[in-house]
Amino acid sequence: MTLSHGRHMLAIPGPSIMPDRVLQAMHRPSPNIYTGELPEVALSLIPDLKAVARTEGHVAMYIGNGHAAWEASLVNVLAPGDLVLVPATGRFSHGWSEMAARLGIESQIIEFGNRSALDPDLVLEALDADKAHKIKAVLCVQTDTSSSAKSDVEALGKAMRATGHPALLMLDCIACLGCDELQMDDWGVDIMVAGCQKGLMTPAGMSFVFFNDRAQDRRAAMERVSSYWDWTNRANPEEFYQLWCGTAPTHHIYGLREALNMIIHEEGLEAVWARHATLARAVWAAFEAWEVGGPVELNIRDRGSRSNAVTAVRIGKENGTRLRTWLTENAGLTLGIGLGMGSDEDPKADGFFRVGHMGHLSTHMLMGTLGSIEAGLTALDILHGPGGLDAAAQVCAAA
Ligand SMILES: *Cc1c(COP(=O)(O)O)cnc(C)c1O
Repeated sequence: MTLSHGRHMLAIPGPSIMPDRVLQAMHRPSPNIYTGELPEVALSLIPDLKAVARTEGHVAMYIGNGHAAWEASLVNVLAPGDLVLVPATGRFSHGWSEMAARLGIESQIIEFGNRSALDPDLVLEALDADKAHKIKAVLCVQTDTSSSAKSDVEALGKAMRATGHPALLMLDCIACLGCDELQMDDWGVDIMVAGCQKGLMTPAGMSFVFFNDRAQDRRAAMERVSSYWDWTNRANPEEFYQLWCGTAPTHHIYGLREALNMIIHEEGLEAVWARHATLARAVWAAFEAWEVGGPVELNIRDRGSRSNAVTAVRIGKENGTRLRTWLTENAGLTLGIGLGMGSDEDPKADGFFRVGHMGHLSTHMLMGTLGSIEAGLTALDILHGPGGLDAAAQVCAAA
């Protein structure tokens, strides 16, 4: 017998659960794209996006996923032959660096493996050794969604500014914008990229490049930037179509407008961060109980280096795929695959899974997810310690 009927739960690190209000806001006929409400609604996104990023800088919006924002950020400030420093904390750090390589940009990688955050001191050492200022930018991922490691961007950014090295700090917040705290300006981040389908609770298809005047100076000195990716007109449009370099993403605009209403104007960004922090602690509490006496193991051991948006779990060969399959077939729950965690012994990363806990998420949704995981562990005879749900409930009760 399967108990998978009922509303399906997607607990993966993006796309995230969309609020019904976001879906309803998009449910409308094609709007007038020339005048009237749509251009106004689109422009109204800009101050709220900046509020989410905590920046007084600029933002360019793109019709594309996170990879589009990656490419856009690179081509506006880096040219073939330039060098970037990449403190790598998982698959996404390497992915951004590989994209840079396809553009002729070279990477100097500092490898932190896939079980820890970056160490700002090692990044500073590399910058200090670069007396000729060959390094044009540091590509940092705040939450690497594959390992679920969260790096201390505040420490890195403030220390980088203090050195006086001119490298730009470029930050990928695609996984965690609106989940993990970010203070783009205060922390000295020059460029930040994000997508709309994770913490921002909107269907995949819009992404953003935020940048400050330091980054704009670099852009102004570029010999050429392709017209589609150029952030100049997008960030300062004289005509509405320049905002998107073509047709506007009509329905995404309404969806994102509603999501930002919920985040910025109703719940409040700090309350949204606090909710994510509490729900993440509930996840960790459950897994820390289940870890006892069996193969379950949180990938990131240090609590301070764990993201509030996603949790990667090791569970022993094949058990990850078994558990995910069981949950989809029997519990109406989909968990994330073990992305980028393959090894010689486990090429497809069947011994991993990830729980996404980002965006539109409440106690009952999270407890349902955790309760279903416990049912799966029990059904599949995967040894686990007792008390995981109690521990998670305690965290939620104390919120
Ligand atoms: C999801 C994600 C990406 C890629 O975004 P897409 O929308 O899938 O292109 C890049 N970086 C991080 C940290 C992510 O979580």
